[in-house]
Parts: sequence; C-alpha cells; structure tokens
Amino acid sequence: MTEIMPENNDFENISFLKEGFYIDVIIPIALQRLFTYQINEAEANFIQVGMRVAVPFGKNKIYTGIVYKIHQNAPEVYEAKEIHHILDENPIVTKSQIKHWQWIANYYMCSLGEVLRAAIPSALLLQSETKIIKNSSFTNEKILTDQEFLIFEALQYHATLNVEKITAILSRKTVLPIIKSLLDKEVILVQEVLYEKYTPKLVKYIRLKKNWEAEGKLQELLENLSRAPKQREAVLHYFQVIGKSHKPVPLTPFVKDHKLAYNTVKALLDKEIFESYVIQEDRIKMGKASQQIPVLSTYQNKALSEVKIAFTKKDIAVLHGITGSGKTEIYAHLIKEILSQGKQVLYLVPEIALTTQLISRLQVYFGDQISVFHSRYTMNERVEVWQNILQNKSKARLIVGARSAIFLPFNKLELIIVDEEHETSYKQFDPAPRYHARDAAIVLAKQIKAKVLMGTATPSIETYQNIRDEKYALIKLDKRFGSSVLPEIELVNLSETYRKKRMAGHFSERLLTLIRESLQNKEQVILFQNRRGFAPIVECNSCGISPQCPNCDVSLTYHKFKNDLRCHYCGFSAPMPKQCPACQNPTLDTKGFGTEQLELELVELFPDKKIGRMDFDTTRGKYAFHRIISSFQAQEIDILVGTQMLSKGLDFTNVSLVGVMNADTMLNFPDFRAHERSFQMLVQVSGRAGRAEKRGKVVIQTFNPYHQILQQVTLNEYDTMFKEQMLERWNFKYPPYYRLIKITLKHKDYNKLNTAADWLGQSLRNYFKDWVLGPSSPAVGRVRNLYIKDLIIKIPPEQSIKLTKEKLLQVKNHFQSIGTYRSIRFNLDVDNY
Ligand code: ADP
Ligand code: ZN
Repeated sequence: MTEIMPENNDFENISFLKEGFYIDVIIPIALQRLFTYQINEAEANFIQVGMRVAVPFGKNKIYTGIVYKIHQNAPEVYEAKEIHHILDENPIVTKSQIKHWQWIANYYMCSLGEVLRAAIPSALLLQSETKIIKNSSFTNEKILTDQEFLIFEALQYHATLNVEKITAILSRKTVLPIIKSLLDKEVILVQEVLYEKYTPKLVKYIRLKKNWEAEGKLQELLENLSRAPKQREAVLHYFQVIGKSHKPVPLTPFVKDHKLAYNTVKALLDKEIFESYVIQEDRIKMGKASQQIPVLSTYQNKALSEVKIAFTKKDIAVLHGITGSGKTEIYAHLIKEILSQGKQVLYLVPEIALTTQLISRLQVYFGDQISVFHSRYTMNERVEVWQNILQNKSKARLIVGARSAIFLPFNKLELIIVDEEHETSYKQFDPAPRYHARDAAIVLAKQIKAKVLMGTATPSIETYQNIRDEKYALIKLDKRFGSSVLPEIELVNLSETYRKKRMAGHFSERLLTLIRESLQNKEQVILFQNRRGFAPIVECNSCGISPQCPNCDVSLTYHKFKNDLRCHYCGFSAPMPKQCPACQNPTLDTKGFGTEQLELELVELFPDKKIGRMDFDTTRGKYAFHRIISSFQAQEIDILVGTQMLSKGLDFTNVSLVGVMNADTMLNFPDFRAHERSFQMLVQVSGRAGRAEKRGKVVIQTFNPYHQILQQVTLNEYDTMFKEQMLERWNFKYPPYYRLIKITLKHKDYNKLNTAADWLGQSLRNYFKDWVLGPSSPAVGRVRNLYIKDLIIKIPPEQSIKLTKEKLLQVKNHFQSIGTYRSIRFNLDVDNY
C-alpha cells in the first residue's frame, strides 16, 4: 500500500522496464492511505485522474473510488488487485479539487477517503451491493460446479442477489471468483444500473406526427376524428397550445389543464396521430430574473468600491457592516460583475435551511443562474448540481450552499462570499473531516487564485485579529440602509424584578408593557430563549433527584406537548412519570424554562394573539422553516418565540421589539468563547428589531446587568469587546494566540477507556509537556452508551503546528498498535472551537 506520493514522483520519469500499469485510488474509508490497483494498457490509456472506478476491497466488498494517480510502480508489499469497472468517460472530480481535499486531510488530520465521503453526493459513490440478476437465456446447467449451481438455483427464487447474500448462501468468504466465473459462463448478469443510482428526471412530451403537419392535413384529420369527439377536442387543444407558445407540449400538464382523459391521448398515440418523446429535465428550477439589483445608497456604494480597491491589494476582505446595513445588496453587485464574465461565485451561508429569504432575494436578481446545494435536497438533485457546476453550465454560476459546498467541482471560481463569517455552523464537528468551511474556503481561494469576501456584523475574534495583522482588508459599513437605525437596548435586572414580585411567569413587567405596546401598534415581537422544550430539568422536590437518560450522562428535558421526557443528545424519550422514580413521591417539578413553556405562557397572557414557535422541534420537515418564516413575514403570527435560529440573518420589517428572556445561561457557558459568542448572538438577535423607519427596541433580561459583555452589547462596542477578549485569551492561553487540537476517546467500557486515556495523556506529555490538558470527562460524559474522555493539546505561538501534528500522529499510531486499545474510538479535532 502506498503512502500518498509527493507530486514530483511522476510516472513519466520512471523507466518503463517494469511491466504493468497501476492506479492509486481514493476509497471512501478512514484508512490513512491510498490503494493501488492493476489496470491493463488499454485502460491506462483511457483512465484519467478524477474518474470513478469500481474496485474490490477486502474479502468481498466493492467500493467506488476516485483515481488519484496513474503510474507503473507495482506495490511492494502486496499484489495489486484488478479494478472491476471504469465508471466514467470523463473525470467527475477535478485536479484542483483533489489538491484541496488533500490539504483538508492533512490539516484536519483525517484520511483523503473521509474527505471524499463528505465531498461527493453519495449517489456518485455507490459502495456496490453488487446486484446480480439471472441471464434468462442461459439453460446449460450441466457446465456448472456445485457452488455455481447453488447461485443459479437461488436466482430462480430471487430477482436479484448481492455479494452479501451470495456469501451467506455459499457460506464462504471468497465469492468474487465464483461470481466472476458465473459471469464468464453467462449464467448471470451484473445489473449495470447499480453504478448509476442517479436517475435523470425524464419528462414525457407529445407532438403531432410529421405526416399530419403538411398543409391541408388538419382538415382531413379532424374529419377522420368526427366520430371520436373527445379525441378531436384534444387535437384542437393541442393546436391551440402550440399556436400560443411554440414550445414543446408536456403530456401531464396538457391532460390536466384541458381536463382530458389519459385514454383519449393514448388513443391518439395508438392511432399514430400523436407521438411521444422524452426530455431530461432539471429537478430544481429557478425562475427567470425579474428585477434589477437595487441602486446602492451612498454608504453602500462607498463600501463596494472599497471592496474592489481592497481586492487589488489583498485576496481576502472583510465587510464589517452592522445588522441591516444591506450587505447582501453589496454582494449582489459584485456577483453580477463576475457572472457577466461567465465566471462562478460561491456564496457560503451558515445554514441553508434558514436562508429561504436570501435565496428568494438572489433569485429575483439572478434567476436561473443560481444553483442551491442543499443537504435536504434529494440525492438526485445534488448530483445534478454537481454535474452542472462541473460543466460550468450557465445555470450553475452562482452557487449558494452551506459548508459542504466548498467541495464542489468548480472550474471558473472567481469569488467566494462567506456570509456571517462568525457563525459556528461553518465548523463540522462530526464526523471527520472536522473542518471549518470558512478556513477551508480561504485555502481553496488561494489555491485557485480566487478572492474571498467575508461579511458580518460581529466578526469572530480570530478574523478580527487577522485584520489587525493586515492579512485581511477591512471595509466598514456603520449605517443601516434607509432611515432605519440600530435599536435601543435596555437591560432588565431580574434579581430586582423577582424580589419586587414584578414578574408574570418568566416575563418582567417592563417586557410585558413593551410587548403590549408593540402589539397595540400592530407591530410584531420576537422572543429569544436559547433552550427548546418546556423545562430543561425535572427535579424532585422531596429528594432532589432528576430523571436521567439511560444512554447518556445528562438529565432529561421535559416536553409538555407530548408530556414526555427527552434526551437532547441521543433522542431517547419516555413518558413523564407521575412519581419520582427514586423516592416515589408525587413531587416532580420543573426547573428552568424552554421555548415551549414560553409559548404556553404567552397563550395565556395574550389569548387573542397568534403565537409562533421556531426551534429544532418545530422545524423538522424540508419546508418547515419556510412555512414559519413566511407566515411571520405575512404577519399571520404576532409573537415569534425561538432559539438561536432566530438570530440568523432574518429580515422582517414589522418587528419593533426583540426580547431576550435570559442572557445568563449563554454568558455562563463553560467555554473560552462563551463571551464572544454571547456578544455575537445578542447583537445578531437585537439586529432583528426596528428594520423600518421607527427605531426598534430590545429588552435583555438578566441577573447580571453589569456584566461587561451586556454593557458592550448595549453600547454597540465591538472594539472594546475585542480588546478585552484578546487580553483574556492571552492570559489564559487560548486562540487565536494558542492553537488547540482536541482528542476524543470513546468506549463502552469505562475502565478500559480510563486506562487508555491515562496512557495517552502520559505519552503526549513526554512530547508536549504541560501543553497537554486532561484527560477529563466532558460535561456530558457518556452519550449513546459510550463513555467519553477528552484531551486538549495547546500549541504555543512559537511552536510549529506541522511538527506538533507529526508527533501527535506518531503517538496515535503507537496507541492504536496496542492490542487492547484498538477498539477505542480515537477522534482528532484540529481547531476544535
Ligand atoms: P444585512 O444583511 O447587512 O443585515 P440586509 O442585506 O438584510 O442587511 O438589508 C437590510 C434591508 O435593507 C433588506 O430588507 C434589504 O432589502 C434592504 N436594502 C438594503 N440595501 C438596499 C438598497 N440599496 N435598496 C433597497 N433596499 C435595500
Ligand atoms: Zn441520551
């Protein structure tokens, strides 16, 4: 097995004395190497890097892999197997993609196969459950061996068999030779469709047969049909449609629109008056552009030209524009220029499900030049986008997508926009590759010489530091668009309001008054509570015990609607018990509160108002977000309660009040970024208020009104926040000064895990001394029945990151060579924040 070869090891330079041709293949698995397969000369002449091949792997697996390299070096330690099939006529992965994936694998310490698996729509990567069918023309049973006959017989009862089933039938492991022999003897066929799980969407059309098109033929036709009035009517409709649009006539709409029977059309097809044909269609259609991009304000224009000037000097620029400043419109102008040159733009968004507003806005400007790459789209839809981008089709010039869109096969990418650069959803935590899409996008842009424009109202600390270091250009936009201004922010001291009994449920009197005012003015209200469910914890008032998840070390959350307890880590649920499971007293009580409880309190407080809720529980389906967002936009909902989903780039003109129910849980979260994140979240949520002429209001309820972050949010002091946080990061040795790599070990046996984690901690300390933290159990120390231990390696500013990773890999390999540790899951997360 070859390690990944350096580029200069080109096969042209090697003497051709050695027989044979080989390819190195990336297979979508976690092993840290490529695999070499043998090909014949004809195949060698045909195969190109980036094509798919079906290859045997292990005893009886077949994988689809990507050709990484073509050469003439036989592997030294094993005999190369032959490939099964070449699956493409042209590469479906470009060389620059492979180069980028390689960077991701190296930097984030995972295998190229894991990157491949994250990168390609799985329909293109069939791990073939090779489907085998019988060849019905085969009759000469006598030539079969006993084993072969068993398969032949099984195929009389089963329409298809796969490798796994055949292995079971023969109860032996090496079945591929038998399958091959059956193929040679033409007993069976391999179902070829297996390699093309992608099925194009075919639409059936009808047209008049050629011989009826001639002059005067129509009269004759109608006379012929005089005794079939329905068919005659259908023909007349057909002429009407064709006369109007001169476009192909799709069968289904034609039948439906004219209230015809399918049989009528079928009769016309049978009589050879009509004929049918199919056209392959795109599954996702965008309408035509219908509006010009709005003219920019003076401030926006200035920012736009600053961006352009910045790009003449630097490749990366940050647009630091306050909420509602109209960053999208600035992007749109840039995009337009690039599209007009026939080049591609990638528009990254943190979470595509939340961007229905953005997509409709872009669609109005750019129409069918947009392609959206969306994990909630079906496989076929994603394959289509992939192919369109690869072929640089005009309908795939502006690609909008969440983090995995950085893996698409661009070939004329000129600009990457990273909208809401600070958002956590750009980071993938599980599974590997544990990459940060913003950072990976910057590297991609560097490799292919594209530009990056990041936009945000609240830059992440590391990005702002890069601006300070003059790695990125900074463009500021401090004015909201139009006459709207930033909302006024007011802090309500909860310890005081509770003491003075000025609370109704979880609402302070002040917040309630403002809600009433807004509703009276027919304005809308958004309430933010970063916790879903009814109450986070159920606790027994007699014995103090709270029901725990059986699979995870975490308390269950009470959901009132279904009256059940759920685990937010593994999805476990159980009915709410009537008595405390520990002491049997009927004294279970709820502590804390979530979105669901707020919704119910609001229903009581405002019985004649419409309350909506937006959180993980209410937004499951493909269109669920869209439904809630558009009904709020249509003002069918008066008060919208939600989790942090609400902070993300939504634009509602009629919201005059935003309430943050409790800022403290966020601020007290045990994480070195808790303060930075709280600042970002609060500024972003506040930004949803007052996007029209009247100044909006924000109320933040808290037990700590003097907390420096709350003061900074109130006064909109980003720079003060940045300076203070940087000082803390330096004092406590955190990023961006120090880099972090997190190691997570998981196993179902706690003792085994514990010993292994201690061993690992010791070995790491040999190299990294005091820069190793842990092992320690995370806040939730067991999830889905696996115990968890974390270790963190801090990399001081002067230490080489590359060398650190090399050492770490050595230790990892040693760890995994110890027999009893082999079953322990070992995850690496580089920049785990
Ligand atoms: P941001 O993303 O910076 O928070 P948006 O791009 O959502 O701000 O813009 C805020 C609002 O102002 C949107 O409703 C947008 O349509 C409107 N807007 C921004 N710029 C213009 C413009 N030049 N002409 C008309 N409307 C604009
Ligand atoms: Zn659980």
